[in-house]
Amino acid sequence: MRIPLARLAFALLLLPALALRAAEPAPVTQPPPPAINPDGWPVHDPDRPVPPLATPRPAEALAAAAMPPAGAVILFDGTDLSAWQNPAWLVRDGAFEVTPKAGNLLTRDSFGSCHLHLEWSAPVAITGGGQGRGNSGVFLMDRYEIQILDNHDNRTYADGYVGSVYGQHPPLANAVRPPGEWNTYDIFFRAPLFSAEGKLLRPAAVTVLLNGIVVQNNAEFYGISTWKKVAVYSAHPPAGPLRLQDHGDRVRFRNIWVVPPPELPAK
Ligand code: MG
Repeated sequence: MRIPLARLAFALLLLPALALRAAEPAPVTQPPPPAINPDGWPVHDPDRPVPPLATPRPAEALAAAAMPPAGAVILFDGTDLSAWQNPAWLVRDGAFEVTPKAGNLLTRDSFGSCHLHLEWSAPVAITGGGQGRGNSGVFLMDRYEIQILDNHDNRTYADGYVGSVYGQHPPLANAVRPPGEWNTYDIFFRAPLFSAEGKLLRPAAVTVLLNGIVVQNNAEFYGISTWKKVAVYSAHPPAGPLRLQDHGDRVRFRNIWVVPPPELPAK
């Protein structure tokens, strides 16, 4: 077989280039820099001390305060999901439960600052560990998550514990009840404030009681809840729906209501 001269010359010209290429070191893929929160702790740091155990208040001690006050917006009273946009989750025995892969649940109404009361229960059938056990979450304004997780005999990274401002502030204590028992959240949320130009004037903040124990004390959000990243703010409307997270675990919910705070007269 005869190789045309022109083709042979071209191949010879290419040879040094190929040799050069082979000599180049393989590109080094740098791991991404760790995401560090403003308090100095890496996001989801597995070495961060986990919250100390606290004894939940007995359900009887919380029963009266679990009843919705006058003026509360009832989001679930044990009967149906008519207050929710996507009522795809199963309602039974006065509660509803996450139907895995059915998606998140969002309220029809929108809220800003509010007192949110909700009760939830982790599945009795234990599957998985860490973040994979009884995981859900409640997002204020569709953006700011308070973690729901079965942390009964289940360790995970501190800023992902039940009662955490997820990825930002670990709870002050772990006051969770065992799977199957009802946990009570009272969440006092202050909406963030943005200027007309979208500049953050005042961050969102939250105080959380889990089973009557303070687990967040006026904690300020670094930004909109995210995963493995430092949260940042992005301007949004002054009200948004509440969102319950479908994280694939059959967490149950009952007795959910919201009290928007009274408006102070403007001067
Ligand atoms: Mg969650």
